[in-house]
Amino acid sequence: MSEGYDLVIADGVVQLPGGETVAGWLGVTDGRVVAVGEGAVPRADVVIDASGGQVLPGAIDTHVHFRDPGDTDKEDFTSGSLAAAFGGVTTVVDMPNTGHVVVTPDDFREKCAYLEHRSWVDFGLHANFNDSSGFVDELAELGVASLKWLMGYADWKGYQYQPSSYAETRATFMAAAHASVGVMVHAEALPWLLDFRDRLRAQGRTDVGVHADSRPPFVEAIAVAEAAIVAVEFGCRLHIVHLTGDVPLRTAIALRDALGADLTVETCPQYLFLSDEDVLAQGVSIQANPPIRSLHDQAALWDGIAAGTIFSVASDHAPHLPEDKQAENPLDALSGIVGVETMLPLMVDAAASGRLSLARVVELLCAHPARLVRLDDRKGSLVPGHDADIVIVDLQGRTHVSGEALHSKQHTTPFEGRELRGAIRHVLLRGRPLISAGRLVAREPFGRHAPSLYPRSRSSIARHEAIA
Ligand SMILES: [Zn+2]
Repeated sequence: MSEGYDLVIADGVVQLPGGETVAGWLGVTDGRVVAVGEGAVPRADVVIDASGGQVLPGAIDTHVHFRDPGDTDKEDFTSGSLAAAFGGVTTVVDMPNTGHVVVTPDDFREKCAYLEHRSWVDFGLHANFNDSSGFVDELAELGVASLKWLMGYADWKGYQYQPSSYAETRATFMAAAHASVGVMVHAEALPWLLDFRDRLRAQGRTDVGVHADSRPPFVEAIAVAEAAIVAVEFGCRLHIVHLTGDVPLRTAIALRDALGADLTVETCPQYLFLSDEDVLAQGVSIQANPPIRSLHDQAALWDGIAAGTIFSVASDHAPHLPEDKQAENPLDALSGIVGVETMLPLMVDAAASGRLSLARVVELLCAHPARLVRLDDRKGSLVPGHDADIVIVDLQGRTHVSGEALHSKQHTTPFEGRELRGAIRHVLLRGRPLISAGRLVAREPFGRHAPSLYPRSRSSIARHEAIA
């Protein structure tokens, strides 16, 4: 046995937890970070030269819709995860609203097995909130990332989707609290949303702004409040996904502080880097739910990032076919945009522009998401023992955003043409190079299930991993 490491990343600035940096090297053996040091580069079978580069943990995107199985003409897990890899995202957590909705333990096991050999990056799975109350303990043992509660839809990708009843909501929150599984909520209050939609339809509105006007901020804030209050009542941890602006954020934080809610808030690049002006300019193709809001809301989210009230950033990567976006009335078009590949580059650009520190980017995209979905014993930080999921970013490089060049099946991006400071050079998953010098070098997908680890199910998870 040689004395050196399997792999060493040399001459980079390694971003460690808490904003600490080490200008030096990082050693990897058996797919894990073994040591970080300064000075002479130790011996290794493979050396990656990171000179001038920032060495970051791979990003963890806790909110993707890879449409597989089901709508694989929009995206499949292989294309979505390849886009993730090129974007420096080494773990994705997929939402349950695929063709085969993940509700039961069998659904969960089947989807994990189905995704084996299909994913370029490691993956976790959320399960559906509705109908899951009887299965939460077993889902926790299998490593479910969360229960996704979709408050704001009467239909879901064209199918009828009934909101959960109060009885069901109560039962699922109690089961989630019992199993220490968090609930992730899409917070939009359906009755208000339907009222606004119907009223605007009756008025004959068909302009591009009608979509946002049909789902105003207070509708989001009401759902945030309801979810927070219910979570407190049943002792459950709550994560508010894709929060869009000022009033919803102030509502979330006010209730967190006033009631002691165990609550975290996520936002997405589309809310940080776009506004209703971009929607007016680009039209329905960049329509998302909840809507992209005003510059005032955008500024409130950046304030939240500065203040620490925004816990994490995720992409809500939600591809649709171009024809899904073509409707005479924007109220009839599908909402959702691609974003997994542009998320980290946009945030790195923001750091290069001085909007936030690179350490804060690592928190928002790596360390906090890992904590959120209980992967923080393995992922999200470059500390010894953790998976060597690594992104090397050259801050002197430039990234030109081009929809045509994205690796998703969909090629419309709201960030088309942007010139971003910084460029992703290398991406490694568990110590194995995926991307080198900007090119895919892995021959086949080797991403695997990364189960969330719950306190009461440690031995069961170990069993599950042994089986996998
Ligand atoms: Zn989503």
